[in-house]
Amino acid sequence: MADILTLSSRIIDSGSDEGERTNRTTCELSVIAAGIAMVEAFGHVIAFETDEGLVIFDTSSQAFASRAIDALREWSARPFHTIVYTHGHVDHVGGARAFVEHAVSRGEPRPRIVAHRNVARRFGRYDATNGYNAVINARQFGPTRLGDFKQPRFMSDFVAPGVEYDSHMSFRAGALEFELHHALGETDDHTWAWIPSRRVICSGDLLTWVFPNAGNPQKVQRYPLEWARALRDMIALEPDLLLPAHGLPIAGNARIRKVLNEVASALEHLVEETLRRMNAGQRLDSIVNEVRPPEDVLERPWLKPVYDEPEFVVRNIWRLYGGWYDGNPAHLKPAPDVELSHEIASLAGGAIALAHRAAELSESGDHRLACHLAEFAGLAEPDNGDIQAIRSRVYEARAANEVSLMARGIFRSAALEPPPGGTQAG
Ligand SMILES: [Zn+2]
Repeated sequence: MADILTLSSRIIDSGSDEGERTNRTTCELSVIAAGIAMVEAFGHVIAFETDEGLVIFDTSSQAFASRAIDALREWSARPFHTIVYTHGHVDHVGGARAFVEHAVSRGEPRPRIVAHRNVARRFGRYDATNGYNAVINARQFGPTRLGDFKQPRFMSDFVAPGVEYDSHMSFRAGALEFELHHALGETDDHTWAWIPSRRVICSGDLLTWVFPNAGNPQKVQRYPLEWARALRDMIALEPDLLLPAHGLPIAGNARIRKVLNEVASALEHLVEETLRRMNAGQRLDSIVNEVRPPEDVLERPWLKPVYDEPEFVVRNIWRLYGGWYDGNPAHLKPAPDVELSHEIASLAGGAIALAHRAAELSESGDHRLACHLAEFAGLAEPDNGDIQAIRSRVYEARAANEVSLMARGIFRSAALEPPPGGTQAG
């Protein structure tokens, strides 16, 4: 049994990760079972060896691809037969160019690339929103300097799939049959695969060993209930091995069922509780502040909210089933933020008074309220260095108190980015 399977079994059986890293990006290859390998990267590359060549799930990102290919090559010399994109996120498709060029450099045919029909549409959207994606990814993954926002660059060199499918597709390579299933979940273009003769599932990002990325505040719609349904479809097949695109592989039907069921249940709970309140006519504000996952869920090693978090998922559910209007009539056609900030600042006796109160609230631990006042102050006097310094400190403190990468990234970037109208960060 590969070491990562031993680790994953221990974590699942004990319900504790004991400080172990479940999401590693070492580019190390592990042989998970005979003829099946996983390279741990961001994201993973999974390969099945067949007589006709390797069938590969995902190509990792641009930064990891060449090391992942080297790792594969130490394991198998067979040509790349088919590449399946589990979805079109750049950490799964970004390495495709390197895989194709590697095959061509060995005088082998270009590997066939298979994906759901919506992957190509995603690439079109990425071309239309290249600058936006550069800015939001700089925020999400931790800005280190102001320049991260000034020269937006996002990947554009995508390799389009050569074979597309709609809901299901099967293909054979050597002795192995691969069944591809489309699912909505983290994306609208997801594929998970079932390899019946081996009782193996490749789950893509439908399992990531963190709380599901079903609420990302800066990105397009996610589908929590459909995500849960896909996990339940996987459980019904009674797989013996599950290979996710992030996190650890899982061996044993009972373990797979336990983990997938808990993730599905957490998503179903958020959808149910949010819809119940929407149907009762509640505003988004009260729903966001009331709906929580069931007790202990966020302690599970495969559900920690270290990337996305439940509060964002609730907002995403509101957007999916409702509209963008949050139920507060002042928000329907609001005054510009700057005008509102001037008004509040003048009522408070000046923007600096707002900033000082923001600092007090921040120090007392009321970071939510502190950020409102700091932002009003910053917008009211964008060129006041003292105010901007306080605003930056308030957001730094906020970031330091957040658990999810997405919240931390946005608050940390707020500390670096000047508010509109301002010329420098504090
Ligand atoms: Zn991913």
